[in-house]
Amino acid sequence: MPQGKAQFDRLMAAREHAKNVKWQAIEKLDAMLDQFENNISARGAKVIWAETAEDALQEIKKICKAKNCKTLVKSKSMVTEEIHLNKFLAKHGIESIETDLGEYIQQLDGEPPYHIVTPAMHKSKEDVAKLFAEKLNVPDGLSPQQLTLVAREKLRKKYVEAEVGITGANFLIADTGSISVTENEGNARLSSAFPKTHIVITGIEKILPSINDLSLFLPLLATFGTGQRVTVYNTIISGPKQKNEPDGPEEMYVILLDNGRTNLLSNPKTREALYCIRCGACLNACPVYKNIGGHSYDTTYSGPIGSVITPHLKNLKAFKHLSYASSLCGNCTEVCPVRINLHELLLENRYESVVEGDSSVAERVAWKLWKQASLHRGMMNMSNGNLKNKVVNSLFKTWTKYRADLNFSQKTFNEMWEESRKR
Ligand code: SF4
Repeated sequence: MPQGKAQFDRLMAAREHAKNVKWQAIEKLDAMLDQFENNISARGAKVIWAETAEDALQEIKKICKAKNCKTLVKSKSMVTEEIHLNKFLAKHGIESIETDLGEYIQQLDGEPPYHIVTPAMHKSKEDVAKLFAEKLNVPDGLSPQQLTLVAREKLRKKYVEAEVGITGANFLIADTGSISVTENEGNARLSSAFPKTHIVITGIEKILPSINDLSLFLPLLATFGTGQRVTVYNTIISGPKQKNEPDGPEEMYVILLDNGRTNLLSNPKTREALYCIRCGACLNACPVYKNIGGHSYDTTYSGPIGSVITPHLKNLKAFKHLSYASSLCGNCTEVCPVRINLHELLLENRYESVVEGDSSVAERVAWKLWKQASLHRGMMNMSNGNLKNKVVNSLFKTWTKYRADLNFSQKTFNEMWEESRKR
């Protein structure tokens, strides 16, 4: 058994317990977030509630303007990808530097992350060496160690220059009013501690009731994310620098983002998707993700969890196709540390899109006919395979647009059955 999983005596019980903790937290989300706000505000942080991506962007702009910010350092955060923060800041003349090595590589290449945990996993070390040579004017063919040193040298200067640092949060802790940040490089610590102003931007679903819950969630996240027993750096931040503390930011803002999460919350079935701790295990296990890769989804969150949440975060009609791009093998559900029934939620999305009338008239007629034929053996036996192929493939145009034609057997089931009985 891999090292990470071996640390749990009863892994399944730990996963079930984690699911229960998240269930409790999400069922009482309003009270939990209030508790978080009261506690972290008491230590000097300012909490900002952002209903939409635009609200969050405007708040960040306001803070940056007030601090006369020209350079901002940023640690890895999918929420900042979700709101397209870098593009927005660039438009307003603020240089935003990704400090996570994978994100830095992607930023240099002008690409979004490929995977929610390992953003540049699709690039080989040779690809990265070539990219650094092109963009940073260093010799081609550097080793991974040399490349890391190049990135470190460039980034270290930025931490000192930056007026503002932005991080996400892996967890929000209600009972202590803290944020918990997990990382392997130490860049989130530098991004939050060096600049005078620290902005945290996070989805409202990241809440955990108690700091004690971290003893379960930190090893679970590490194990299912990267196979580690525990991630290298785990930082708990409970406000800006206090009077008796020697370092840390003078001001801290926490932006709590909704941006469609309450759509998931409002449906008792899809609510479960808010338990996600963004470990990426479902992406790694998904046969579709493994074959098409993260960029094909053209969404911030890819893989099974992305297909479940994106239609609700954005627009069901425009993104319903993601819920159909699945074989429903259930591997995602099998590997999810918090036991989210991902494949059932994909079905729920399909159901909702049909109920909302998002399917075309031709598709609806085709399925009606299909249902009638399936219920009436006589209709199924009416013609030979060739005719069935012709009729069905011309009716199911939306199905066959991106797929091979359906191919019926030349003989009906009844014919084959009769034959087998005679043998
Ligand atoms: S849905 Fe589960 S497996 Fe997928 S990223 Fe979230 S926690 Fe991990």
